[in-house]
Amino acid sequence: AVNSGQEYDVIVVGGGPAGSTVSTLVRKRGHRVLLLEKESFPRYQIGESLLPATVHGIAHLLGVHEELRDAGFTVKHGGTFKWGANPEPWTFDFAVSRRMAGPTSFAYQVERMKFDHILLENARKHGVEVSEQCTVTDVLKSADRAEGVRYTDAEGAVHEARARYVVDASGNSSRIYAAADSRREYSTFFRNLALFGYFEGGKRLSAPSSGNILSVAFDNGWFWYIPLTPEITSVGAVVNQESASLVQGDPAKAMRGFVQSCPLIADMLAEATPVTEGPYGQFRVRKDWSYCNTRFFAPGMVLVGDAACFVDPVFSSGVHLATYSGLLAARSINACLEAGDEGAGEGIGEQAAFEEFEQRYRREYGLFYEFLVGFYEMHESEDSYFWRARKLSDSAGSDIEAFVELVGGVSSGEFDGGGTATERIAAGTRDMTRMVAGAEEHADGAVIGAAAGKLLEQGTALQARALVGSQAGEGRSITPGGLSASADGLSWVRDDGAGVDA
Ligand code: FAD
Repeated sequence: AVNSGQEYDVIVVGGGPAGSTVSTLVRKRGHRVLLLEKESFPRYQIGESLLPATVHGIAHLLGVHEELRDAGFTVKHGGTFKWGANPEPWTFDFAVSRRMAGPTSFAYQVERMKFDHILLENARKHGVEVSEQCTVTDVLKSADRAEGVRYTDAEGAVHEARARYVVDASGNSSRIYAAADSRREYSTFFRNLALFGYFEGGKRLSAPSSGNILSVAFDNGWFWYIPLTPEITSVGAVVNQESASLVQGDPAKAMRGFVQSCPLIADMLAEATPVTEGPYGQFRVRKDWSYCNTRFFAPGMVLVGDAACFVDPVFSSGVHLATYSGLLAARSINACLEAGDEGAGEGIGEQAAFEEFEQRYRREYGLFYEFLVGFYEMHESEDSYFWRARKLSDSAGSDIEAFVELVGGVSSGEFDGGGTATERIAAGTRDMTRMVAGAEEHADGAVIGAAAGKLLEQGTALQARALVGSQAGEGRSITPGGLSASADGLSWVRDDGAGVDA
């Protein structure tokens, strides 16, 4: 028997960062949201190095900023790379960007079991109905429109629930995106394989870089070395297809081999031992091929996070793209839900609202993708990477500022990257930039704040106002006649400030 009759405004499939973000931000506008998650949280996930855009911009909107601050995550001031022509490791610090100066110039290295749980519980606190151990098997459709899902609960009972919008936030293993007539297209450039595990007793870089992600190129690919907790280090080898066969069989042995062929990582791990118990007690392998789906939305359905696209993990952009797309999708859904029962048929309309989402999302994805292609040119110096970042993001700042803004997830609007520049030049993510760029406004306060906790609080409060106050509303449209963010950052309005018409 099928239990049916549940009705919602939105059903979100998946409780990772993308799903928690979109559901919380839709719920904040008072809509009824059901979130279905197949696992029971906390659950393991890879993707531990975050960007300032997430821990400041999105976290404020979600209202989890303080909880994240108090969770004791490792503070990440930037990244240290042994990469490219320079034989010596080089370091970037988010603080070199004026946009991230002061209280927004860091991110966290997070245990995803904890981080994702905080975000999911926060969704629950906001009134999202969260059901764990519920696996969505099908998207229900009527004519061409998605109108709900079928799912199986922990006891094996089958349910059908209906909603105006279904969000696929079910990650890289999504089975349901096809319901949006969307295909997954794999990059021919980024076809790597990741082998990763956890070590106890790994060395730390010296302060102030001790919380940095360390990324080290070696013959077979590159290593990440992430100081997750004072004791535990997350270590992953991302290797090219030719090296994939080395990983088959005994992953622990393969890891030892890779470590031996990379002197810097071997030195960092000289006194370390692999964790052998609990969720960190195994080596895992993931094909991390990059992909992008052909469509991010269809009538009644929208794709966010890894369900929509994924790009090589060198710059830790996964959670940023997941949460940013969650924000963009929430704006489109809120705009349509609030435009009247006709589904925003007039005014900006559903099509325009979701085009805005897709355009901005593709723009941000494309920026990382294009930059990463050049970053794999190993014979270049870091200066030429920085220069490329400035060229791609069309930043007004210095090369290094452009680079940290890009890899901090706060790069500004229009950019010119060659070939298809005219298509992309109209695009931008000024809203996000502005949100995080709240720092610019109170740069002085922030500097004082860094010295005195109390003032830091004020700086943060100021930033929060910049995030959800009128500043966010100034997020300009990225196309002529396009849409901009509403004053609270949770919906779209026309550039003239008017809301979405019914
Ligand atoms: P997920 O986190 O995958 O969440 C999806 C959720 O949906 C899961 O909880 C799953 O249980 C649930 N689900 C799946 N199917 C169903 C279903 N049918 N019904 C109900 N629920 C379902 N990102 C970073 O930011 N920093 C990094 O350092 C980083 N390193 C990475 C290294 C590697 C090797 C790889 C492969 C990725 C890395 N990433 C990194 C990317 C990061 O892991 C993802 O981008 C991020 O987890 C995406 O979040 P999400 O919410 O879209 O999906």
